[in-house]
Amino acid sequence: MHDALAAQSALFANIESHSIETLRTFGYQEIRLPILEKTELYTRSIGNHTDIVSKEMYSFEDRNSDSLTLRPEGTAGCVRAVLENGLITTRQRLWYSGPFFRHERPQKGRLRQFHQVGAETFMMAGPDIDCELITISNRIFEKLEIKNLTLKINSLGTSEARRNYGKVLVNWLESRRDKLDDDSCRRLETNPLRILDSKDVNTQKLLEDAPQLSDYTDDASRLHLEQLKSMLDDNGIAYQHDPLLVRGLDYYNKTVFEWVSPGDSGQNSVCAGGRYDGLVALLGGKPTTAAGFALGIERLALLLEDKTDLAHRSDIYVVALGERAESKARILADLLRTQLAAVVLNNCGGGSLKSQLRQADKSGAKVAVILGENEVRDKTATIKDLRGKTEQKVCKESELVSCIQTYFPVE
Ligand code: ATP
Ligand code: MG
Repeated sequence: MHDALAAQSALFANIESHSIETLRTFGYQEIRLPILEKTELYTRSIGNHTDIVSKEMYSFEDRNSDSLTLRPEGTAGCVRAVLENGLITTRQRLWYSGPFFRHERPQKGRLRQFHQVGAETFMMAGPDIDCELITISNRIFEKLEIKNLTLKINSLGTSEARRNYGKVLVNWLESRRDKLDDDSCRRLETNPLRILDSKDVNTQKLLEDAPQLSDYTDDASRLHLEQLKSMLDDNGIAYQHDPLLVRGLDYYNKTVFEWVSPGDSGQNSVCAGGRYDGLVALLGGKPTTAAGFALGIERLALLLEDKTDLAHRSDIYVVALGERAESKARILADLLRTQLAAVVLNNCGGGSLKSQLRQADKSGAKVAVILGENEVRDKTATIKDLRGKTEQKVCKESELVSCIQTYFPVE
C-alpha cells in the first residue's frame, strides 16, 4: 500500500476530477459508500471461486465476532446500499470514488490499496445504457488525452448458458490437461470460464481451437450485443469483439467490456464493466436490470505520468522583513489569493532577504512581492520578476493586484 506524495496526488486528483465531471454531465449522482462491508456480501455476490474471494480479500473479525472485509470492489456495496435505502423504485445513475483493497502480489499497476472511480446504473435493460457507460468512459479518456486504448466487448449470456458452456469447455480441456498451466488446471474444478482469461501463452494457444461461449449464449444476449455494436458504430467508438473476454466476478451477464492499454503486462486493463442483471435479486431485491463500470486510477496514472509538470507549486511568494511587514504580508497575500485566484505562499519563519528569496525561487513562484520597512511606511510593495528579465519595480499598495496581473497574461 503506497503513500501518494504531491506529484502523484495531483495526478490522481486530475484523473478523478475529469472522471467525475464527465459523469455529472451525463446525470450521474454521487453515492459515498463504507469501506467495510460484511464478508458475506462479497462471498455471495462476487462468488466463492473467484480470485477476489478465494485469495484477495482482507477479512477480519470485529469485536462482535462479525466477519468484515475491506471492500475489494464497489458494485456489491452499491447494490446493498441502493437496496437498504429503497432507491430501486426509479432508474438510478450513480458514481463513487475511493480506495479498494485486494491482497494481490504487488507489482507495477497492481497494488493492495488502489483507487477506482465507478459508475452503476439500475432499472435500465440496455443496450442503450451499456452504450452510455462506454461513451462516458471513452469521454473520460478523451479529456485526459489518453489515446491507444482498445475497447473489448463480449457477451457472457445467461448464467444457464455459461453453466452449459462450462461443462462443454471442461470436457474439451480435460483431455488436454497436460497442456494447461497450473492455475488453469485448478480452475477446471472451480471456475472453468476464467481459464479463457489465462495470461499463459500455451493455454492461450490451446484455447484458439476450443469451443466458444458465443455458440452457447441465448438469442436475447446475442441481440443485445449486436445492438450495442451498432450504437457504438453510430457514436464512432471503435471496439473489438473478443470472444475470450470474461470478467473475474461471477455476477456479470450479457454484455461485458474492458478498455486495455497496449502491451501484455497483465496489468493493462484500465477500465472494466458490464451488465449484472441478477445481482439485485441475489442480494434480496426484486429482479432488477443493472450495469456499470470501474476505472483504475493508478493504471490511468501510469499512462499519464510523463505529461505532468509539477515543478510549479506556487504563483506568488510574499517576502516580509520585520514584524510590521509580516503582518501587512498576511493581509496582502490574502488579497492576492481572493482577487487573482492565484497560489500565494507567505514566507513563514522570518529570515534574511536573501534566504527568503531562495525559498521563493524553490517554490516555483513567478514573482516575489517584497515588503520591508520602507514599503510599509510608504504603503508600497516591491515586485521582483523571478523568472523573466523585467526590472524590479515598486508599486503602490492600492495598485498591487493590477500590477501583479501584468505578470500573468491571460492565455
Ligand atoms: P486484473 O485482470 O488486472 O486483475 P480485474 O479484472 O481484477 O483486473 P476489476 O475488478 O474489473 O479488475 O477492477 C476494475 C479496474 O480496477 C481494473 O480494470 C483495473 O484498472 C483496476 N484494478 C483492479 N485491481 C487492481 C489492483 N490490484 N491494483 C490497481 N488497479 C487495479
Ligand atoms: Mg484482478
